[in-house]
Amino acid sequence: MTLKNQHVLTASQFSEADLAAVFMYADAMQKRPDTRGLLAGRTLACVFYEPSTRTSSSFIAAMTKLGGGVIPITQGVQFSSVSKGETLEDTITTLGQYADAIVLRHPETGAVARAAAVSPVPVINAGDGIGEHPSQALLDLYTIKQETGRTENLKVAFVGDLAHGRTVHSLIRLLNRYPGNEFHLISPWLLRLDRTGGDSPLYEEVRGKVAQTYHVKAGLQEAIGAIEQADVVYMTRVQKERFIDAEGYAEVKDSCLLNPELVSCMKPSARILHPLPRVNEIPTVIDADPRAAYFRQVRAGLHVRMALLSLVLGV
Ligand code: ASP
Repeated sequence: MTLKNQHVLTASQFSEADLAAVFMYADAMQKRPDTRGLLAGRTLACVFYEPSTRTSSSFIAAMTKLGGGVIPITQGVQFSSVSKGETLEDTITTLGQYADAIVLRHPETGAVARAAAVSPVPVINAGDGIGEHPSQALLDLYTIKQETGRTENLKVAFVGDLAHGRTVHSLIRLLNRYPGNEFHLISPWLLRLDRTGGDSPLYEEVRGKVAQTYHVKAGLQEAIGAIEQADVVYMTRVQKERFIDAEGYAEVKDSCLLNPELVSCMKPSARILHPLPRVNEIPTVIDADPRAAYFRQVRAGLHVRMALLSLVLGV
């Protein structure tokens, strides 16, 4: 298997065989009554320099269900030697003496790759700033496959903070490789995917599949054409913590809000995904709609991360 002992840094690195293996293992994890022997005696370090609920707890749950142990540095690196001025490289080199793999989240784009360069064990990128979040993309794609029955010929509307949304950056790369997919990019102008004015390498990578771009001003109804046609509406929150000025955030924070009226225009077979956490972009009244798949997506995350750990640690 190509994932064995590999760092997981970007969604671009997965071969078709890797994706097939992750999905096959994730299916098996759901069905297997006892997974506890699979990674018995192995240890995972979970190191989070940024807040997390789902990613950290699902990796911990996944490792536990596989029978392994966890070194959790998830309650804030202020409780680790980082607060004494230790470099990322030294922290990772140290943890690599105890752990068989390291899951790392860091606020700087590229920091996880920097950590991987010195790590004696595989490093899994759990989000590097506004860069990527490849394990989230795996679970997003797995959910799309489970919910729609396919990974190709999909019209996907990406909605919200496309500039800062690392889950968007990873998922769009994965979807880009399948035939017949088309992307509808819906965001305020300030949060567009090609924020650097069309020079952004990611935008260049996927532009062949971009069917339409909407720079909404007054709300999502301006993109109703895309919402009506979409097979998947991938919602994201506006990432307040990435703004340097409060006014910039205030200007765009309510620009992409879903509401029941918009959902009623969606195809019955369409699905709403969200990497979570949500702020106000999906009112809770929508949760009961069968098209709302975001909590099923959370559940899928557990099985996909069990699959990923099994493959990287070489079951
Ligand atoms: N939980 C996701 C992430 O860490 C999405 C978000 O924070 O909005 O990227």
